[in-house]
Amino acid sequence: MATIIPISDLRNAAGGKALGGPADALVQAAASEGATAAGPVADTRGRALRDLRISVTDRCNFRCVYCMPKNVFDADFKFLPHAELLTFEEIARVAGIFVERGVSKIRLTGGEPLLRRNLERLVEMLAKLGDIDLTLTTNGALLAKKARSLVDAGLTRVTVSLDSLDDATFRAMNDVDFPVAKVLEGIDAAAAAGLAPIKVNMVVKRGTNDSSIVPMARHFKGSGHIVRFIEYMDVGATNGWRMDDVVPAAEVVRAIDAELPLANADPNYAGEVSQRWKYRDGSGEIGVIASVTQAFCRDCTRARLSTDGKLYTCLFATAGHDLRALLRGGFDDAQIGRAIAAVWKGRTDRYSEIRSANTLRLPKVEMSYIGG
Ligand code: SAM
Repeated sequence: MATIIPISDLRNAAGGKALGGPADALVQAAASEGATAAGPVADTRGRALRDLRISVTDRCNFRCVYCMPKNVFDADFKFLPHAELLTFEEIARVAGIFVERGVSKIRLTGGEPLLRRNLERLVEMLAKLGDIDLTLTTNGALLAKKARSLVDAGLTRVTVSLDSLDDATFRAMNDVDFPVAKVLEGIDAAAAAGLAPIKVNMVVKRGTNDSSIVPMARHFKGSGHIVRFIEYMDVGATNGWRMDDVVPAAEVVRAIDAELPLANADPNYAGEVSQRWKYRDGSGEIGVIASVTQAFCRDCTRARLSTDGKLYTCLFATAGHDLRALLRGGFDDAQIGRAIAAVWKGRTDRYSEIRSANTLRLPKVEMSYIGG
């Protein structure tokens, strides 16, 4: 069992305290005129800044055992107070600055993003940023109710998480007794509202839902939707991750291929994290995300903005950079753009390539807080 570090400590380690709040290097970079020319930036390994994941809430209505285990995220857990959250205006402003720096894809996530009240208003604001791919990852619980209004607001795509079609397995994994049928209703509503094809994310944990791999593939085969099987990752510091619990993507592909023959397909674009496999009978495709067994750090173009406005350059980070201090500290867009560029230019992250017993012990921030 992994050592459990209180999340509040992790937040502090990752936030203003460790970095010295407004006095951190980020603010100094923001203040240094002309330090970084306008426009797109690349990091120390030549990786561009292309994707921005925004966590709009650290709260969730599920308690998935691999993400927000109930024994940690219980009734006493202190989620961020509302005043700490970036407002929609702040999110839209900083997202616009990211777009100027090269971001072309924005994903709203969390926590459960559909729990953030009036999220459609934020979608509408972000949709006005121009030619960006605007998408959202959700557990689907509220999707049937919200799909139409999200599309009307300008959402272009959606990813729905669903870890099993077996009701008992799914209820045990989400740990709030939520039924499969309601998520399937959400997927149908999203498709009817125009968000098809939908990506369906299934995190595979050995001994928990590996028997659901083939049934999941079979169910969505021919539907137009794309199931993506994700290797269970050591995100955060609370899920008690063990390598033994990971089902390698190659094993997932073998299991499906044995019953529903597959052929490898080319990526849709350079740096796509999901490896594509098409059904040989032409009835669609699946994806596998092998973040543990086949690290793809060399192609990672993703930045993350936490619920309280800290910039993280890696899903496995232990510290972030306080953009909220700049947004609320009177800095102008050009200054904030320079700060973002300075952080990105200095980026060296490649956690999945160097994962070891030692890195497992790092006080990594929780995925619900920086965004999945
Ligand atoms: N609540 C939303 C949802 O359920 O999709 C968005 C946030 S959730 C953190 C985003 C994605 O991260 C989900 O597909 C979830 O299954 C995945 N995830 C969470 N913890 C994970 C882990 N330890 N390993 C792999 N994927 C994980």
